[in-house]
Amino acid sequence: MRDVEIQLYQTKKIINDHKHADEGWFWVRYSAYPYKGCSNGCRYCYEWDEKYAPMKDYRLLDKVVMVKENAVERLKKELPRKIKDVVCVGDWQPVEAKYRLSRKMLEIVYQLKFPLMIIERAPLLTRDLDILSDISKQTDAYVGFTIVATSDDQIRLHFEPRGPSVKGRFSSMRRIADAGVMIGTLAMPILPYIFDSDEELRTLVKMTADSGGRFVLFGGLTLWGTCKDVYYEALKRAPAILAGSPQEHEAFLWDKKTEEWNQNKAIQSQWGRRCHLAIAEECERQGITHYIPRPVSFFPRELRRNKEIAGNLFIKARESWMLSESPYRSHAFTKAGRAVDSLTEDIGDLYRRKGRQGLLALEGIGEKLASEIEGLLSVQASYTKE
Ligand code: SF4
Repeated sequence: MRDVEIQLYQTKKIINDHKHADEGWFWVRYSAYPYKGCSNGCRYCYEWDEKYAPMKDYRLLDKVVMVKENAVERLKKELPRKIKDVVCVGDWQPVEAKYRLSRKMLEIVYQLKFPLMIIERAPLLTRDLDILSDISKQTDAYVGFTIVATSDDQIRLHFEPRGPSVKGRFSSMRRIADAGVMIGTLAMPILPYIFDSDEELRTLVKMTADSGGRFVLFGGLTLWGTCKDVYYEALKRAPAILAGSPQEHEAFLWDKKTEEWNQNKAIQSQWGRRCHLAIAEECERQGITHYIPRPVSFFPRELRRNKEIAGNLFIKARESWMLSESPYRSHAFTKAGRAVDSLTEDIGDLYRRKGRQGLLALEGIGEKLASEIEGLLSVQASYTKE
């Protein structure tokens, strides 16, 4: 942590409460982080944008880490007031070795029996395997390890100058998987024209499966505002190690302010579709999933089937979006997912009582989606912890 300034402060609020658990992606409803700023300084990080930057000056993102001294007390106070749903906590960047706030936050999650997700990349997380394993025995708990390259070559070091080694991430994945905690790879972001060939993506999936990972979730770059400036600056400083022409790279610079791709949206769609298919096909070959299965064991027993079927519909919505199909199709799956998700009667009972007409009476569900749900009803309950 050379050249990193530490600032201690008291936060007024620790939990970010999202309106919906992020459907089809991480399934996270709440998040709570003990630090602002990140000494890893990845060049693709969305926190470089002024809108998200923890400090007023976004350029300080990797130079100042602000420690929320009262993070644990705040979590202890705020979490019991929330409806039980998945909470994403902690941050195991280097400063955690000293302050141990993430570990203490895990202890609160365990005491309150909340389902847990962790998004991480640091082997330091394995220091807390004992508590992680306890949470996993009690309820749903899963970890996504961010991995965007398969070796610690020049390219990886250029974009993640202070991030942990790829080797360290995969060996930590193995330890976490061996402790019985579900873990997988967050291939986010796939770096266009840098680490994105079919062969590279297949290798990433295989290394995940070989390390005990059970999923690979892929996501593209979301660059906007000053975040785009930082990423593009990194591209410009590394022409010798980059594949792809400058035009190809520019095609990916999404400008949130103008709500437009700077150049060619079609290029981005084709690229996303190809990456998705390469990952999905290799996942199938390796017997793992290209999505995170929805955690449902913490819901009341009578609602679990609804949650699982809604989860499948949300995953289909995400997949449709990844494949650049009609936005209406993706939207229809999401709408149907929400209708099933909010049902207070078990959908199996509803179907037994009223048949297809019962499904058609739900908001946003027509013949095609009713037939889709019938298919899901016949194969559901694949991921339910008793
Ligand atoms: S690890 Fe990298 S991507 Fe994650 S918050 Fe830190 S700088 Fe951003």
